[in-house]
Amino acid sequence: MTSSVSESTFVTMIDEETAPIIHRPRSQSATSLRIAGLTPMSTVDWPGKLAATIFLQGCSWDCFFCSNTELQDPRVSGEIPWRDVLDFARKRRGLLDAFVFSGGEPTMQRGLLEAIVATRALGFKIGLHTCGSFPTLLKRVLPYVDWVGLDVKSLRPEYVAVTGREKSDSATWRSLALVLEESNRRQDEPGSRPFTYEVRTTVHPGVMGAEYLAELAESLAHEGVTTYAVQDFRPDGVRQPMPRRGFLHDADYEAVGSADVSLINPQLFKSFVHRVQ
Ligand code: SF4
Repeated sequence: MTSSVSESTFVTMIDEETAPIIHRPRSQSATSLRIAGLTPMSTVDWPGKLAATIFLQGCSWDCFFCSNTELQDPRVSGEIPWRDVLDFARKRRGLLDAFVFSGGEPTMQRGLLEAIVATRALGFKIGLHTCGSFPTLLKRVLPYVDWVGLDVKSLRPEYVAVTGREKSDSATWRSLALVLEESNRRQDEPGSRPFTYEVRTTVHPGVMGAEYLAELAESLAHEGVTTYAVQDFRPDGVRQPMPRRGFLHDADYEAVGSADVSLINPQLFKSFVHRVQ
């Protein structure tokens, strides 16, 4: 990917929600979107749906296990113009169920709302992958979204160690509340479009053990989460060595294998899956 976009096209600010100093695109137009890639067809990005996935450039966090580090820098220009995505979408009417907006962190770009509305107007369902780092924009787009995959990285005390960003736990918990509220609202309002979600945690087997995962699952169930997935960490694309931030005391970053979900009580949820990579 190229990095030819001038700094002057970005606003440098202290974001009110996640606190780190970031460069966040100012424009609210879909044509301003930095689009890093488009997967024409996927059955896994929204489980159970045939979807195209749009990868938006930029993320304000720096998770130690991030496998998309090339998507983190918001100053990198996009590879695909929005008009090409729209042309593609028009040709896929009747062939795809949905479009999923992913990243990076899609809610970092203010043009997301216009893009979602335009895609929905073509008759597609809308899926959204988010870490919840920008709850204000998330709140605005949720009424136009049909499914959300929300990352919850860890219990709150370890959040900064995972993401490298102060207050990232507050942003995620606020976003979690918004997703659960939207779910309840759409269930209660007759005639509303169905809304579903999945809260998911990516687990490095040497960093989060069985007891930690059980505590995290209980905490999420206590918040009202009914659909939860644990996903195994994938080493592809991850920085080596991974950034160490004093996570759990005896973390073993060299460990390989699958997450130990044996102490998670699946009865806590309507749906619980362990997604083995
Ligand atoms: S939130 Fe996602 S894209 Fe951003 S740093 Fe973390 S893993 Fe990478």
